[in-house]
Amino acid sequence: MIKINPVHIGFDIDGVVADTGGAFIRIALEEYGINSISLEDITSFEVVDCLDMDREIIEEIFSRLLDDPLNAGLKPMQNAIPVLHGLAEKAPLTFVTARPHEEPIARWLKHFLAPATYDKIRLVAMGVHDKKTSYIKDLGLKYFVDDRLQTCQKLAEAGITPLVYNQPWNNNSHNLPTVNNWQDIQALCSD
Ligand SMILES: [Mg+2]
Repeated sequence: MIKINPVHIGFDIDGVVADTGGAFIRIALEEYGINSISLEDITSFEVVDCLDMDREIIEEIFSRLLDDPLNAGLKPMQNAIPVLHGLAEKAPLTFVTARPHEEPIARWLKHFLAPATYDKIRLVAMGVHDKKTSYIKDLGLKYFVDDRLQTCQKLAEAGITPLVYNQPWNNNSHNLPTVNNWQDIQALCSD
């Protein structure tokens, strides 16, 4: 098993730290009355390709999750926060997201993380998926947890070990290392 020094690992946010898929399903149900979809139906990162839903509604839900994740009800993935607090005792936490704006997701992290932990985080919001690799390299990271398979493949090509956070949209065949949950991440990072 890989042993990771917490100083060398970084995290994507949506689909890894945040239960973005779960929030999407809940908003679709509660705000749009769509009760026919479940997380397992989201078999593509491009949600519009796999769900029988109006493109406009999909875009509206994602806009809400991007613009105001706290009020949209975006929740952390199970155990993400306690595991992050444990890792933060050993090294500052690093988050790299393709979200276009840093401020809304910074507020979200501030809400869930202890002040002493939040004060030391490194957060990069760069707006596009495909620039992630160079940022992650520049930050000196050797491992990165992400739920987008294409991103993970790019990282691997650049010599960074990706950890694919298993989700219904990234389960198609690949040979990259995976994690199923935050207990797995904790185990990889424990000494
Ligand atoms: Mg993601």
